[in-house]
Amino acid sequence: MTATLDIPVPRTAATVHDDPNGEITDAFGLVIVPAAHRGRYTALWQLIQARTRRSVVNPMPLAYAREYATVLARTGIDWTRDPHDLAVDPDARAQMELARTTLEQAMWAGRPLWWACGSWSTHAPMWSVLNIAAMPPEEYKPVTFADVWWLTDVLAAPAVHYDPRPVWSLCCAAPLCGDPAGELLTPAVLSGHNEDGDPLPMRSPERAELTAAAEAIGWGRRDAHHWLCPACVTAHTDDSAW
Ligand SMILES: [Zn+2]
Repeated sequence: MTATLDIPVPRTAATVHDDPNGEITDAFGLVIVPAAHRGRYTALWQLIQARTRRSVVNPMPLAYAREYATVLARTGIDWTRDPHDLAVDPDARAQMELARTTLEQAMWAGRPLWWACGSWSTHAPMWSVLNIAAMPPEEYKPVTFADVWWLTDVLAAPAVHYDPRPVWSLCCAAPLCGDPAGELLTPAVLSGHNEDGDPLPMRSPERAELTAAAEAIGWGRRDAHHWLCPACVTAHTDDSAW
């Protein structure tokens, strides 16, 4: 049998809630527990069989443990089986080997086991509102349609132009980004702040403007289509001896 890896559906909320045996996972029979060495927490996590308390993989960062459990849930392996039976089952071994290779490659690259989405989204074009009486046009950035009205009110000699360029925004492509308690995870979106200091999603017709802003606050580019927010960069940084 040729083993294939069944990739999870994009942005599946992890099954995260308390259990005396550990954090329950999508893989029935497997739970996540803190990894200890000589009685001390190591900052890594273990994926173990709830019944036997045997580890199925080396300790790893929590985000990887959660993603890996989701991948293992889709292998079709019965994780409540005796570990010795699993170790001699050729189909189970092939599936586990494939999953482990996927995990190692993702850890090496500092990315999740799968991508939830592309990071770039397009939005409706924006508007340029120029104050002819005051500053040169290049001082003004494109604004949303909602902002056209108050700008035309406050400027002495406004001139409104429709900017035909598409507008971009950048979001985190990690599958478990967001609040895990939510049914559907909402990923982090690259944001600045409005004049009241509240977060405001950044949109621009210039991708370079967004990537410069993203890198300045710790977002990480993994390839042309996939970026990680600062929290997911940290979550996918592996300092263990894999
Ligand atoms: Zn994220």
